[in-house]
Amino acid sequence: MSRKHTTRQVIENVEILDVAAEGKAIAKIENKVLFVPFVVPGDIVDILITKKNKNYLEGKVVKIVKLSELRVDPFCSHFGVCGGCKWQNLPYEKQLYFKNKQVIDQLQRIGKIEIEEILPIIPSEKTTNYRNKLEFTFSNKRWLYDGEEELPKPTDYWGAGFHIPGRYDKVLQIDKCYLQEDPSNAIRLEVYSFCIANEIPFFDLRLHIGYMRNLIIRNTLDGQIMLILCLFSENEHWQNMLLSHITSKFPEITSIYVAINPKLNDSLDGITPVLYSGKSYLTENLNGLKFKISPKSFFQTNSTQAAILYQNVKEFAQLTGTEIVYDLYSGTGTIGLYLANNAKKIVGIEFIEDAVIDARENAILNNITNATFYAGDTKTVLNKEFVLANGKPDVIVIDPPRNGISKEVVETILNVKPTKIVYVSCNPATQARDLELLNLDYKVIKIQPIDMFPHTHHVENIALLVIR
Ligand code: SAH
Repeated sequence: MSRKHTTRQVIENVEILDVAAEGKAIAKIENKVLFVPFVVPGDIVDILITKKNKNYLEGKVVKIVKLSELRVDPFCSHFGVCGGCKWQNLPYEKQLYFKNKQVIDQLQRIGKIEIEEILPIIPSEKTTNYRNKLEFTFSNKRWLYDGEEELPKPTDYWGAGFHIPGRYDKVLQIDKCYLQEDPSNAIRLEVYSFCIANEIPFFDLRLHIGYMRNLIIRNTLDGQIMLILCLFSENEHWQNMLLSHITSKFPEITSIYVAINPKLNDSLDGITPVLYSGKSYLTENLNGLKFKISPKSFFQTNSTQAAILYQNVKEFAQLTGTEIVYDLYSGTGTIGLYLANNAKKIVGIEFIEDAVIDARENAILNNITNATFYAGDTKTVLNKEFVLANGKPDVIVIDPPRNGISKEVVETILNVKPTKIVYVSCNPATQARDLELLNLDYKVIKIQPIDMFPHTHHVENIALLVIR
């Protein structure tokens, strides 16, 4: 028997108690936290311990003793295999409850931050078809279910859908996904069957051969649709055949791009998609403002909730028209532009140059003349000289990626001393860490959690900080 087997430890009848950071379900054993995937609070399970650490344990379920009363039947047939929508087995109200709790736990219980007012989480208006962007992957070796080992035709092994979690080389064939409005499913399925019928090869993710790599579908609330077809190499014959088929089947598509990606990975970094037909960009309308979305630009993935998020930032900022507002991590300028009419001046800083170009174009598109956007790392761009040149900010809006803001940025903010900070976060754990660092000089007046991603553990939170 291998050593691994001799150390197997199964703990029986463990009750799952809660949901912790990153959506992991937790139980408590010998006063240690035990993280377990694929279960929900209230489940009683037997658990095999897979990892022991000084502070916590990890395990996996070997037997379900009793299912939680909280559980509901997931509505998607791909649930459990697909990496998305992992919380479909919890009713939406419970998902909101755990998200809200997660924010409060991270900020108050773990971060020990005093918060004057905690506003209840805002649910997502749409709980299905809420995403405006999906990326599907094509693979000639799809994920096989039991009994599918020997299929008659080689193309029976091809699939178009999402990666299996943790498996870069396996793709789950998706029949119906509930994340994006129609005709998202119809387009993917049509491309899939047309390629199979015409033997246009799907990509081999291990050997790096084949043709069809990815299909990115983006849409707007008013029904504009952009396709970005990512191919491994140039092949005029296949490309024309496929694209003329798509355009005739789906005349409602407003722009089609082709991206030739000969790299080992799927990312479009360094690759310029070429317009095949239609308009070169989408235009999203949020609360009366227009935003241009180019194939590679970042845009909040749930547009309806983005409008609500920006409206809440505006309400938190309470601008009077005289303030200088810094919009840090500004992306395509959405938040700053949203606040511009109520401010004296907006100053944005964003890492990605293309996003900054979009932000400047978005300002012109909306006749906004009091917003300036700078490209660069907030850590280096935001310094004394920058503040001297752009004016001392009265309000700073921060909307960083998941890892939060760096210590240097915290220090600069503490030196610059804006009256208010509005901190938008997609990760309450790093937000709690950053608020703790700002705590000496800033008190947290209120927080507003918002759900942007139903059926996942992700939660957005806005915090209003005011100088002490
Ligand atoms: N506020 C925008 C974008 C938020 S996403 C919106 O709501 O649409 C976070 C943004 O931070 C991304 O655009 C990312 O490119 C940018 N970013 C990440 N690290 C950065 C850094 N160190 N300095 C400046 N921008 C950064």
